[in-house]
Order: sequence, then C-alpha cells, then structure tokens
Amino acid sequence: MNKFVSTATAAVLALSIAGCSGSGGSQPTAGEGGGGASTPKIGVAIYKFDDTFMTGVRNAISQSAEGKAQVDIVDSQNSQPTQNDKVDLFITKKVNALAINPVDRTAAGVIIDKAKQANIPVVFFNREPMPEDMQKWDKVYYVGAKAEESGTISGQIIADYWKAHPEADKNKDGVLQYVMLKGEPGHQDAELRTKYSVKAIEDAGIKVEKVAEDTAMWDRVKGQEKMAAFLASAGDKIEAVLANNDDMALGAIEALKAAGYFKDNKYIPVVGVDATAPALKELENGTLLGTVLNDAKNQGQATLNIAAVLAQGQTPTKENTGYEITDGKYVWIPYKKITKENMDEAK
Ligand code: BGC
Ligand code: CA
Repeated sequence: MNKFVSTATAAVLALSIAGCSGSGGSQPTAGEGGGGASTPKIGVAIYKFDDTFMTGVRNAISQSAEGKAQVDIVDSQNSQPTQNDKVDLFITKKVNALAINPVDRTAAGVIIDKAKQANIPVVFFNREPMPEDMQKWDKVYYVGAKAEESGTISGQIIADYWKAHPEADKNKDGVLQYVMLKGEPGHQDAELRTKYSVKAIEDAGIKVEKVAEDTAMWDRVKGQEKMAAFLASAGDKIEAVLANNDDMALGAIEALKAAGYFKDNKYIPVVGVDATAPALKELENGTLLGTVLNDAKNQGQATLNIAAVLAQGQTPTKENTGYEITDGKYVWIPYKKITKENMDEAK
C-alpha cells in the first residue's frame, strides 16, 4: 500500500514537472491519458475591457481556449502601470505563456524584458510593438491586421459613393470636404487608417479638403461630442465622415441624427472600421455607408493558438497553429470590405 502511494505520488510529481514547469497546485487533469502534459496556463491582459472591438477578441480567445488551455484574462483598465503589475503577477503564478494587448505599445519592450527573464513566451495582439522591441527575443510574436489595408478599404468605400452620387458634392466645387474622427494617437490603426483612407480617395482621382480632424479615442460618446462640435463650427461644409472605428462612426451618426440628417433626404456618407454588431445594424438602417471587417474571431483564435503552442515549449508553425507566420513572428489577419450588400459575411 505504502509503495503504491509513493509510486503514484512520484508519477503525479513527474507529470506536473513536465507539464507546467513545476508550478505548485496544478495537477494533471484526470482522463488526459498517460504521459500527456497538463493543460497549459496562459495569462491574458486586455488594454481595457470596456472596448467594443476588444470584447469580441476577448470572447474569441476564451472560446478558442476550450479544451486547449486554461486562460486567465485580466483588465488592464487602460493603465500601463496596472498592466505591468498584472504581468508581474502572471509571472509569479508561473503561467506558461503570456498574451498581451498593450495599453501603450511603446511599453512592450519592458514586458518583453520581464518575460524573457522568466523564460515565458509572449504573444502581443491588436497593438503592435515597435520592430526593435519585437527583435529583442525569439519567443515574441504579434497577431494583428495591416492597418493600411483597413484605411484603404474605407477610403475606397467613400470614393465609390462619391463617383456614383454627384449630389454628394454639396457645394459643387469638385472637392470632397471631409471630417476625420481619429482613434488614439500613436496607435498604428489610428495613424495608418487616417493616412491611408485619405490616400485611397486621392488615388481614386478625387480632390479632398480636410474640414476638421480630432481624436475621439475609439469611443462612441467622444465620437458623438466631436461630431457635434464639427457640425457646430463647419456644419453644411461637411460632405463625408471618416471614422477610424465603428464606435466613433456610430457616435457621429447620433450627432448627425440630432442635426436632422438621415431623414427628409438629408444624407451624408459615414464610414467606420470593425464591423461590430451595432455597426451592422446601422448598415442595415442605411445610416452607416460602409465598414471594414476587423476579424476579432480570427485574431483571438490565432493569439490563443500561438500562445498555446508556445506554452507547450514548441515553435509555432502554420501546421500547429492554423495560421501563416510571417518573418518568424507575425500573423496578419486580412480585413474585408463590408457594405449592406455583403453584411452577412461579417457575422
Ligand atoms: C479597433 C478599435 C479598437 C482598438 C483597440 C482597433 O483595431 O478598430 O475599435 O478600439 O483596436 O486597440
Ligand atoms: Ca465639395
């Protein structure tokens, strides 16, 4: 009897050492099969929970983890110091991999230093670290989407509309007067969507004039406030609204509605990015002209798959993650143009 107990204890010990770097408390789950590693633990930090798009990514991470990994997802509450503390805690808890959506992407270097020191691989997502930080260690990955692409697509939606609707040139000067609602300054998606959306309109042979531009920090309420301010100062001059994401576009639509738009033939084209559920509703209603699918499902799944492979001490490949890996550390999820015609493809 004694002998049996000690053999069993030794076996459990050996399994737990093999499976989770000797961390205490984590026992191999019954029924996993002899010799199988225990479920890897992944520490996930989101820049803030109160973000429509990131909520979609977060849900995709949890769903993809089922049966594959044990995820602990925490809210960094839009504070980099808070996120750094959470990372420290994950390291103390000996997670097997980290998945980090940085608050400030220039702070990724600090997180990489901590992770490297503890030999815990890290996957960043949605907020792209600087290239020099990405080179600090080979166990650092990034999952995201090419911001230029989303900017270009949203600009093209406006350009197509402009060409098909001569009446959109309200003052008949042959120039498209637009306002820009920008996301958080410094965020690659805010900078590049702003630049490439306008570039796409110009590349389509259309002259543009910026009436106003301001950041609404990805936020719907701020989008509404900024749009109301634009309307108060430039009102009838505005011929199109470009927003770096759907939440800000939806805020703008509310301000426009309050100013009498979207009835009695008063219309203005508004575009966003993300294709969130409330944005699809507005596409259906005919207030939002178009958006760009920012694929939360695949971004979340790729993040989890890569982290899970790394957590098991393996090198991520297309075969073991299901996603193409570029330059040894990047996964790029494609964007897609979404209008009322193909909105089912965004669900
Ligand atoms: C999304 C925004 C979101 C931001 C968060 C962007 O890719 O388009 O809606 O607020 O990521 O970092
Ligand atoms: Ca004009």
